[in-house]
Amino acid sequence: MNIEPGVAVDAFRFGAVPNISMYFLTHFHSDHYGGLSQTWTHGKIYCSEVTGRLVMQQLRVSPEFIVMLPMNERIELGKFAVTLIDANHCPGSVLFLFETRSQRILHTGDFRASPAHITHPSIRNKRVDSLYLDTTYLSPRYAFPHQADVVDACAEVCYKLTRDDKFARRIISRKSDGNQGLMKKLLASITKQDAIGRWLIIVGTYSIGKERMAIGIAKKIGAKIFAPPNKRRIYTCLQDPVLDDLLTSDPLEGQVHLVSLQEIRPDTLSAYLEHFKPHYGSIVGFRPTGWAYKPPIARGATPKATPSVETIINLWHSPFSESDMIPSRGSTESVMYFDIPYSEHSSFRDLTCFCTSLLIGRIIPTVNVGTQSTRDQMRVWFDKWGAERRKLAGVRKVADGQTRW
Ligand SMILES: [Zn+2]
Repeated sequence: MNIEPGVAVDAFRFGAVPNISMYFLTHFHSDHYGGLSQTWTHGKIYCSEVTGRLVMQQLRVSPEFIVMLPMNERIELGKFAVTLIDANHCPGSVLFLFETRSQRILHTGDFRASPAHITHPSIRNKRVDSLYLDTTYLSPRYAFPHQADVVDACAEVCYKLTRDDKFARRIISRKSDGNQGLMKKLLASITKQDAIGRWLIIVGTYSIGKERMAIGIAKKIGAKIFAPPNKRRIYTCLQDPVLDDLLTSDPLEGQVHLVSLQEIRPDTLSAYLEHFKPHYGSIVGFRPTGWAYKPPIARGATPKATPSVETIINLWHSPFSESDMIPSRGSTESVMYFDIPYSEHSSFRDLTCFCTSLLIGRIIPTVNVGTQSTRDQMRVWFDKWGAERRKLAGVRKVADGQTRW
């Protein structure tokens, strides 16, 4: 990264990089900290307090190499200053705003772009010369819904399942595309099943990230959250009073269980439930990932589709509610499974709104940059956003306190 000689962001996998003395870490996900271990001696690591605690505890990096910086404060570091801004990704994740005498560089790490980024005092009405952008979902097919709507929809499903005996049958009869034959078979088998019993709810997460989903569900149904010891140990680093308040070490007390994403498949859910019978009689699993989103055909399901920026901003809101929740293939009335379009990365619309609300010199993509053709496709959108800013003779306006684009 061309900010100042000697500075690198999320670049640990290369070991000691010649001439680099300051290593910045945006957040505690392995594709960003990869290469860090207790043998690290190559230079100081600058990060948020949550990330710093995780790096020391989980990777056993020596504290002498960790520099934990406060949020939202401009910190002078010799020839440049840095400000850490909440990335709205996983706990502890930050954007780094680097400022030198001559330029401002914003590195997003992984983020879900929100209006709060634009209205942040260090960003509002200021030009960013170089934007290192998380381009994970930079394609029109990923105009998935707002995070809060997805959490609410899942919480509503859980609320109804736990309070209405007939709801399981109703939701399982919702047809997913191309699945009618299977659904008929399932419905036929359902009539033979016993009473469904108490529901166990499981939510797939990474080592950190996606906790908001479990918190939203637990609050809605008045339940506690169980996490296995390795996860609870990680959560002590977050110092999150809301999560701490809901957590329990007793899997029977916690009706919402946090498990690793890989564990949530229709064939593994039944086995998981067996451990907790007869306390629980039924199980529902949520697998949150942005990749689960299926766009309407009209919305650029083909790579060549190039809707106008105005269309994306004004029409692609992607509303989402409980009625959009359709159990995945293989679900039954007592073992239910949902792939849900919950993402902690920006949707395509988030990226479009963010990049037309900010004065940007140039954009450097940080994800999916492996081939010339993906880089060319991304460039098309960078140019479109630039054209939109020129058309506006500035940027889209974002109001203080605005929570949605
Ligand atoms: Zn990440």
